[in-house]
Amino acid sequence: MENNAGLVGRIGKRLWDPGIGGMPVGRELTGKVQRDLLDLAYRNNWANNLVNLAAGASLVAMFWLRGDLVSGNVIWLAVVGIVSCIRLWSGYLYRLLRENISELPDALLRKWRFRYQTAVIFTGLLWSVLGLMQIPTVQGESQFLTMIILAGMAGGATGILAPVFLVGRIYLCALLLPPAVILAVMAEPNYILSALALVFLLVMLVTHRNNHAVLFRSFVLKYQNQGLIEDLRQKNRITEDWNATLEIRVEQRTEELRNLVEHDALTGLYNRDGIVAWFEHKKRSDALLDYAVLFIDLDRFKQINDGLSHAIGDEVLRAVSMRLGECVGPEHALGRWGGDEFLIVLAAPHLELHPLVEDVIELAQQAVTQPINIVGHTLHVGFSTGVAFSSGRNPSISELIHWADLAAAEVKRSGRGSVHNYDKMLLTEQERRLSVTQALRRAMGADEFDVKYQPVIDAVTGDIIVYEALLRWNSGVLGVVSPDEFIPIAEESALIVDIGEWCMRRACQALQDCAEVSATTKIAINVSIRQIVMPNFADMVSRVLADTGLSSDRLVLEVTESIFEKRQTTQIARVLDQLHAMGIEIYIDDFGTGYSSLSRLHEIPVDAVKIDKSFVLAMDENARVVIEAAILIAHRFGLKVIAEGIETAEQRTELLAMGVDACQGFFFARPGPMPCRDTQWQSDTDQPV
Ligand code: C2E
Ligand code: MG
Ligand code: MG
Repeated sequence: MENNAGLVGRIGKRLWDPGIGGMPVGRELTGKVQRDLLDLAYRNNWANNLVNLAAGASLVAMFWLRGDLVSGNVIWLAVVGIVSCIRLWSGYLYRLLRENISELPDALLRKWRFRYQTAVIFTGLLWSVLGLMQIPTVQGESQFLTMIILAGMAGGATGILAPVFLVGRIYLCALLLPPAVILAVMAEPNYILSALALVFLLVMLVTHRNNHAVLFRSFVLKYQNQGLIEDLRQKNRITEDWNATLEIRVEQRTEELRNLVEHDALTGLYNRDGIVAWFEHKKRSDALLDYAVLFIDLDRFKQINDGLSHAIGDEVLRAVSMRLGECVGPEHALGRWGGDEFLIVLAAPHLELHPLVEDVIELAQQAVTQPINIVGHTLHVGFSTGVAFSSGRNPSISELIHWADLAAAEVKRSGRGSVHNYDKMLLTEQERRLSVTQALRRAMGADEFDVKYQPVIDAVTGDIIVYEALLRWNSGVLGVVSPDEFIPIAEESALIVDIGEWCMRRACQALQDCAEVSATTKIAINVSIRQIVMPNFADMVSRVLADTGLSSDRLVLEVTESIFEKRQTTQIARVLDQLHAMGIEIYIDDFGTGYSSLSRLHEIPVDAVKIDKSFVLAMDENARVVIEAAILIAHRFGLKVIAEGIETAEQRTELLAMGVDACQGFFFARPGPMPCRDTQWQSDTDQPV
């Protein structure tokens, strides 16, 4: 028996390769098509058998009616009936098999195909037998009718047997070839009918071949389309997989970069950016939370760093960061703000936040204060904590950190190792400001102010060239309050306008009344910008001079560098111009601490700059640079340079060497009363200088 798989494959290839665009039909595809063809053949099986049965029965009935029936016909019909039943049963079994096995194995395929082909060939042979047996024995109409039935069956077989190429052809030939031959060679040959039968057979063979080809090609195309779709799916999957992988990798890389940008390299904690990003994200994800920022500043860390080494300092920072990490849950943030400063940002509902802060601080104290052992050193680290709460203010994270930082600085000032709450600090500060303001309002009426005078000495001659008037306040409620504290509050509340006028009047009067003071010695009055920008400031000054009788060229006004920052610079310059024109001198006070105004000195009629005492007291490299530059530029502008805050002979010597024109400071005299004969000298320290 020929291997039909190979046969169908070869036939399919031979017939349809050109039809499917020259694409070769592969082994796998051929196998699939063969299975489909067999399925179709068995699906057509019942029709094939019913036609056989019906045609056979009709023929025998016709012979019987026409009196041509022979016993052979009945036997033949019985055999056809049996064969049809077997074939139908076989078809039924095949259906059951296919219901259970979706992919028919090769062995089963061969077995069932063999059964089918054998049955078809056997059926075909039965028809050959009938043709050979009956055609020579009947004449006329019976002969024609037999041939018509056989031709009809051949026509039906071209479709029904289209799935089986060679067997279909054998069947067709078995139907028509024997009668055609018999018709030509029998005793009374019927050549026309024979020729017709042969022509019809040829036509049926061609039709069958075409049907088979169409069938075969449609199956091949079906699988090729399926393959194409599967291919596309596969490619899509690959592309999707690749895209997904790429996305994951991009995400991973972004995450890595974000980690680098938002984390501190030494400790792995959040850095400044990380804390800010965490806060913004947290606020977006839960708008109802309140926040507390704990600013943790290690105590005396500089000693570890400088005394042991920076490497040990780094280890300490790492150890502290790990210990702090154990005290802070994942819903909060821990970061390193810089140097030895750490930040904890706690997020919780309003009512839970305060107890949470207390718990975390206690835990952190316990954890961090445990001794740290690093390369043979046992170190004890403490810290100061400043706390700021967001409650009710909706501040930015920068504001919160700033407040917590201020509170931590306050702890450092008032003794390390404890905790300061910014809110409490703020409250205390506000309360103090309020009481200072209230006390200030009563101070003038209660005659609580006094003025002390501090001389400014000419660097060359040693003469007192100016007395600076410095306001003193001994409050009945608050006791002695420093001008550094009450002047800013007085400026804020505009009380400075009256207080300043009072001070000026008192100082001018004192100088005017003091006959012992040289007639060339001047009085310097500190004036706030708030006073200068008052519309009648110059009038007020003129009035004071007129009232006290002091010559205008004996008056000096000290203004701070902040005049260059203010928006009213033009107005300030106009007022100062006016006063300068009256012979009043203008000094820039606390020079070097504020707005860098060296280049703008020419905008204001200035006679001298007073280098701030902070530079003189520090007298380090930076301070020297500032002082030298100030002296250089001031001299270029033709201004005098006065150094204030000189406390030692060394400072004086150095400053004189640098080229200052005049000096002021505790080394020469503390602020005290005007040195008149009838006045008892009482300096700020009660010590006559
Ligand atoms: P300022 O005008 O720079 O005054 C100099 C300050 O330095 C004074 O402080 C003075 O006591 C202090 N001082 C002088 N020599 C030394 C020294 O050798 N060492 C140290 N450590 N300090 C020295 P004071 O009197 O406490 O005044 C503070 C500031 O208050 C003044 O700084 C001035 O800006 C302001 N102020 C004082 N009185 C008035 C006033 O009547 N009106 C205005 N607007 N401000 C005033
Ligand atoms: Mg001053
Ligand atoms: Mg000053």
